[in-house]
Amino acid sequence: MAYEKISSVTPQDVKAFLLERGATEECRCCGRHALKIMAGDGATPSLVFVPNEGGMNPDSGTLPVAVVVCQNCGTLRMHALGAIIDWKRATDSQG
Ligand SMILES: [Zn+2]
Repeated sequence: MAYEKISSVTPQDVKAFLLERGATEECRCCGRHALKIMAGDGATPSLVFVPNEGGMNPDSGTLPVAVVVCQNCGTLRMHALGAIIDWKRATDSQG
């Protein structure tokens, strides 16, 4: 997966994806509508997998994610960017 494809996902894409999939816009911790989507800001946030016995270690060693932050209580929520990219490709090819 090329970096250019990852960085092409905008916060608007993430929001459209989450709304279409039925994700809530409320923070699950404090219940406020204060979520901010961190995506498309240049560097792509990623989870890093540290090799360990019997643990998960994908080929790349990282999993790009869209991070959703509650601006009220600071709760972090993450969604795999791969799922959003697949959805965006399918949506773009329909339109
Ligand atoms: Zn919150």
